[in-house]
Amino acid sequence: MHDLAGRTALVTGGNRGIGRAIALELARAGADVALTYRSGEESARATVADITALGHGAVPIRADVAVAADVEAMVKQTEAALGRVDILVNNAGITNDGLLMRMSEADWDSVLNTNLRGAFLATRAVLRGMMRARWGRIINISSVVAVAGNPGQANYVAAKAGLIGLTKSVAQEVATRGITANAVAPGFIETDMTAALGTDLRDVVVKRIPTGRFGVAAEVAPLVAFLASPAASYITGQVIHVDGGMVMA
Ligand code: NDP
Repeated sequence: MHDLAGRTALVTGGNRGIGRAIALELARAGADVALTYRSGEESARATVADITALGHGAVPIRADVAVAADVEAMVKQTEAALGRVDILVNNAGITNDGLLMRMSEADWDSVLNTNLRGAFLATRAVLRGMMRARWGRIINISSVVAVAGNPGQANYVAAKAGLIGLTKSVAQEVATRGITANAVAPGFIETDMTAALGTDLRDVVVKRIPTGRFGVAAEVAPLVAFLASPAASYITGQVIHVDGGMVMA
């Protein structure tokens, strides 16, 4: 449906969870995909095999997105393997929850460095190539909590809200070059990240979701594929929620 034939994508944290679903969806739409992981080499290889089975190119790349040298190398490896980066999906993310009063600087820094600095580094690294090609798609995976706030997640919320500001600013800087930048804000999605939530908290959260359930990664990925497609060429600087109606802006 969304024709990405001949396009190449780089998905950070594409080995598992939402990133894996996005990598597969982009491949189904016709793209070749480089997917990065930090420590999950086995799941990265499995996802690459699944994409290859679809008849598309795929390459696993180890990179810590918080480390500038890793990010530079990750983009160079993608360009070497696939030719260029047309589509960047900044998906890699972590949580390190705790009330602000007790939050250590290390807990703050680890989340900001991965979730926000990583996106800045990766975006900066791919922009030159996209400018040259006069075509590009940058899609940042934010969160509904970026808009609503969430007690116990000040570091995560600050990073995800920062990602929205980054998205809007980059969108304005590159709009005339055929490059769009958008943010996707998922609600609660069943992945390893939310598996850690206790049953009590889950029950409280589900009551706040109009659809009455958590989403699954396959319900986030199609929006990313659409935003990456030529059909979305006039959509930029937007934050689009995939949250079962949890936060209605
Ligand atoms: P998971 O915990 O399932 O996966 C996280 C992914 O990020 C893994 O691929 C992991 O790689 C990678 N990663 C983590 N830290 C780094 C790093 N420093 N460098 C490179 N890669 C890293 O998370 P989800 O799939 O649930 O989340 C994906 C994105 O969606 C995140 O940005 C998250 O904040 C966001 N999101 C998730 C929601 C949810 O309910 N699940 C809701 C809203 C937003 P590895 O396997 O190697 O560790």
